[in-house]
Amino acid sequence: MEITATDSIEQQLVEMAAILGLDKPVSKEVLQAAVDDSTYAHNLLVCRGQPEFMEHLIANPPRMDESADLGTFSTVTLLGRAAGSLARWAKTGFSTVSEETYHKRLMACNVCPNLKIPPKNQQSLYARAGADIKERTVCSMCGCVVKVKALRTSDTCSAPHPNRAGFNRWDAPLQLEE
Ligand code: SF4
Repeated sequence: MEITATDSIEQQLVEMAAILGLDKPVSKEVLQAAVDDSTYAHNLLVCRGQPEFMEHLIANPPRMDESADLGTFSTVTLLGRAAGSLARWAKTGFSTVSEETYHKRLMACNVCPNLKIPPKNQQSLYARAGADIKERTVCSMCGCVVKVKALRTSDTCSAPHPNRAGFNRWDAPLQLEE
């Protein structure tokens, strides 16, 4: 069966509900807010098993930018990817790499030809994700904001290292992202 953009976003809503221990999918507004606002995402996770708090958080996601367009394929795809990344990060307990590793990763990204300025039609989305929309801040291979991606232990670079066979540009064993 062909997976459509709609299937993808619906699946992410279900998966996020599963992570939070809920018995029905979260709303797009909750998913959007969790992607945009790591404090909200953190609060959701720490309130698992506390129905009163969880109910309040689910019913009151922080308001998103109303000019955002959730209807385009690219935006839905990006949200799906962001939610997938968030889910993987949640499974690690929001663990982050050491400062040394973080800087090494960012230095590799800074000299990588895949690092791009966010595309014009997605700048609103990327601005909300914390990217400087006038600078090369986004990895064109995965669509992630590298300053966020590089911090997470659960994320990896999927580009082959130019000089080391079997390794990626972050100097880690090369593997495909889920
Ligand atoms: S994550 Fe990898 S492919 Fe993406 S910009 Fe950084 S080094 Fe390049």
